[in-house]
Amino acid sequence: MYTEQALIEKLRQRFHQSDVPVGIGDDAAVLDWPVGFAPLFCSDLLAEDTHFRRETHPPDSLGFKSIAINVSDVGAMGGRPLSCLLSLALPADIDEAWVDQFVEGMAEACQRFDTRLVGGDTSKAAQIFIDVSMIGSVEAGRAVARSGARAGDSIYVTGTLGSARQGLELLGTVGHDHPSVRRQLYPEPRDRIGRALAGQVTAMIDVSDGLSTDLNHILEASGVSAEIDPDEIPREDDVSLEFALHGGEDYELILTGTGLPVSLDGVPLTRIGTVVSSRNAHQLWLVRNSRREVLEAGGWQHFR
Ligand code: ADP
Ligand code: MG
Repeated sequence: MYTEQALIEKLRQRFHQSDVPVGIGDDAAVLDWPVGFAPLFCSDLLAEDTHFRRETHPPDSLGFKSIAINVSDVGAMGGRPLSCLLSLALPADIDEAWVDQFVEGMAEACQRFDTRLVGGDTSKAAQIFIDVSMIGSVEAGRAVARSGARAGDSIYVTGTLGSARQGLELLGTVGHDHPSVRRQLYPEPRDRIGRALAGQVTAMIDVSDGLSTDLNHILEASGVSAEIDPDEIPREDDVSLEFALHGGEDYELILTGTGLPVSLDGVPLTRIGTVVSSRNAHQLWLVRNSRREVLEAGGWQHFR
């Protein structure tokens, strides 16, 4: 296993950036800041045996995913990812090959999503912890909150739902090139779509915990209810409705508004329902053949 110093040196070389005033190697990173833009600041943690298992998740996918899920958060505010920090805790028995692959997965994601690793912290721990925090930028006053949905808005989702959950089910039994497994291991954030539609939508959220949970976040924040048609929820043929409704980690976007395009950037946008007014409780209704039932948030919740 690398010493801490050797690991930091490896990161410093691999992520050297000529366009950052001060990157890895000093007490803190120094960034240039675009005039007229507000910072977006977020973090997302991957903890061993909570978010992944060492036996099934390849290290390069963890590196890739730790960046991609933060890019997704920035994109869901309508912003552009700029720079990130990595706090990494590793057990002593992790070998150098694991670290090398992890770093390569991370570097690939940084390149793909145009973001830079500019620092972090490193520690030993009993289990693997990967915490990336990311800073992004959004035009001042233009960030898209969860709270803007209004009665009468349509509800749209990008791409298809449930595949990442299906991939988790299949992981270890089929190859990593299976489409659902790929979506579990190498999620494709929709940040370009988030930025393109930022001026047009009333609310936006990325699907990390599942449609039922994440749409409920919009409803709560906006003080509205919603009716969705289960038959309209886009999913691949081999993915169950259960996974499409409640499965997490797809990193698609849920958007509310009117008159959105049917596709963008080669990704379909599907209208799945309507925002309706609510007197007090913010309910998510599943409506099929004019029968309504409440859809409880059934996605992933920690500490439940
Ligand atoms: P300090 O003593 O100030 O905490 P460290 O020795 O932890 O400094 O880190 C030295 C440099 O390496 C800092 O610039 C820090 O941002 C960077 N660094 C440390 N760990 C990581 C990591 N896991 N990923 C990226 N950069 C890191
Ligand atoms: Mg340190």
